[in-house]
Parts: sequence; C-alpha cells; structure tokens
Amino acid sequence: MEKKEAISLAKRTEICKNCQNIVIGKGNENAEILFVGEAPGKKEDEQGLPFVGAAGKNLDKLLEKVGLSLEKVYVANILKCRPPENRNPLPEEIKAHTPWLLEQIKEINPKVICSLGNYATKFFLAKGNVEEMKNQEGITKVHGKVQFVEINGVKIKLIPLFHPAAIIYRRELIKDWKEDLEIVKREIN
Ligand code: URA
Repeated sequence: MEKKEAISLAKRTEICKNCQNIVIGKGNENAEILFVGEAPGKKEDEQGLPFVGAAGKNLDKLLEKVGLSLEKVYVANILKCRPPENRNPLPEEIKAHTPWLLEQIKEINPKVICSLGNYATKFFLAKGNVEEMKNQEGITKVHGKVQFVEINGVKIKLIPLFHPAAIIYRRELIKDWKEDLEIVKREIN
C-alpha cells in the first residue's frame, strides 16, 4: 500500500473523524529505536503529540534513566486517533491504522522496535494479523525478549517492553525496564 492510501484508510475511521488531532509521532525520524504505544489519550488528542500525558511523563523519566531522550528515539502508536473514553482499539481500527504505522517503520528504518505494552506487542507478534492477536503471549512473558517478525515484507527486530503507564503503578517494574533497555542497547550496537 502507498503511504497516501494508508493515511486515507486511517482517516476514514470514525475515531479519526471525531478526534481533535491526528497523532502521528514525535522524536528523531532517523532514530535507531522506535517505540510503539497503543493509542493517543486525552492530552495527546489535545496536543497532537504522542505520550504527553501521565504515561508520557513517565516514559520521559524512564528514557532518562537509561541515558536516552527524544533526540535519539522516535515514538508512535498503533492508532493515530483517540478512541472515545480511551476504550480499547477495535480490530477494524487496528486494521485501518497500522498500514500507516508500517509506512512509518519503512521510512525510519529503525534497528529495533520496542512495543510498549500488550496491544502493540501482540500486533507485532501476530505479524499484523489482527485476528491472531488474542492468541499471543502477554507482555509479562515476552518483555525483553528479542523477536524477529516480518509484516508485509517489512523485517522487524522487536523487543517488547512494559507500558510506561503500567510502570507508574508498579514501581517494581523499573528494574525490568532497565534490564530490558540494556538488551535494546546491545541489539543496536
Ligand atoms: N498511551 C499510549 O499508548 N500512547 C500514547 O500516546 C499515550 C498513552
């Protein structure tokens, strides 16, 4: 699919017609590490940028802990628009929005993709097959494990990570985050 077509497919979904802003991404477009979250929340919708609310503030702190910043990474989401009341993404929405994500992956061409939390992780582990997402292992089992997946000819080295929103409430996960990021750094060097 061409990028123009991928964008227009996403824009035809109801969530895109009803949101304040389409949230494409932020950071370094030549980054070696691409972080992929789930979907914009209220703050992200208002500002048109991913990870600017509570989860985003925690992501900034977590990046700092491992010597990274937005200058070195790029951050995007599975969905480009906020689902109402932050409900979970619908299968049709994931299908309509992820061709755009795949175009971003092709352009950025990162060495490693870090999926943040269950949704993004299961999308990649299911090789983009949305029906198969429910059959994938959860983040608790797969975090920090290097996986190779190919989606529509795009080869991806995936390292799943806990979602920064989960780490706000479960501080014990900071240790896992740091260890997982050591693996990420090793993989890009
Ligand atoms: N959570 C996400 O997964 N993405 C955002 O952009 C914000 C919160």
